[in-house]
Amino acid sequence: MNRIVIKLLFKILLYRKAMNIIECKIIGNDNLFPVCPRCECTLDREYQSFCDRCGQKLKWKKYYNGKVSVKYKTT
Ligand SMILES: [Zn+2]
Repeated sequence: MNRIVIKLLFKILLYRKAMNIIECKIIGNDNLFPVCPRCECTLDREYQSFCDRCGQKLKWKKYYNGKVSVKYKTT
């Protein structure tokens, strides 16, 4: 395998390695949305296995334990 192929495979593997949800945003009337650790988009549903936008695999352990930072979206 050449270097480019190895780099590509490494990138794909990183996406498949689950990342913890570490941030939430409060939007509107106390609606809490978890934030994808990779693309920083808010997620529509809690405890989904993958991000809808970037396909990042997600872990919810820290979220479940309340170890997330909460940000208020200022509009
Ligand atoms: Zn994402």
